[in-house]
Amino acid sequence: MTKFAAQSLFTRFGTLAMAALLSTSAMAHGNDGHSHDHAKANSRHNDAAHVHGQGELEIVQDGNGLFISLYSPLENVLGFERAPKTDAERVKARRVVSLLRANGLFAFSPEAQCKRTSHKLYSEILNPHSHGQGDDHQHHDSADGHSDFRAAYEFECEQPGKLKAIDVRVFRQFPGFEKIEVQALFPKGQVGATLTPKQSTLVVQ
Ligand SMILES: [Zn+2]
Repeated sequence: MTKFAAQSLFTRFGTLAMAALLSTSAMAHGNDGHSHDHAKANSRHNDAAHVHGQGELEIVQDGNGLFISLYSPLENVLGFERAPKTDAERVKARRVVSLLRANGLFAFSPEAQCKRTSHKLYSEILNPHSHGQGDDHQHHDSADGHSDFRAAYEFECEQPGKLKAIDVRVFRQFPGFEKIEVQALFPKGQVGATLTPKQSTLVVQ
């Protein structure tokens, strides 16, 4: 990873951590650290691509805390990117919301004893009241008919040093995902990875 990209990453992680901890963030807009050479690994909230089938995960482990944000086009989970119009679509949207809120998208090394402490869903369509000052990602939505969401999860691990792997079960729950780019910041350093349905486990260095 280039120095440039690393700096960008750190800026974003700083923003993420603050957003997670304080639920307030207004800094991501000013980050112009993205460029074409790593655009696919960069988040769409940095004005990068909205690509159906692809998503991004940001993971930060800090002390006992573990913060995970999933960014994705709504298409990947819902199959459409507008407000539901039919009863069937409303049912599907409700089901997607419960899946995103359920505690089954990530599995951790059991020895780490990680428990979820909070979760939030930011989506103009799935959770219309979620647009608050803590969210800086909605400006992409609607104008071009596309829509993203962010799901943020916080965990507390009793034995954070024993976290060796994170199994990303997003693929199992939502077959619309073909690829998820991961940017993780662990106490021992940064990890970048591309996960797929066949390779869905992130190894913690
Ligand atoms: Zn789209």
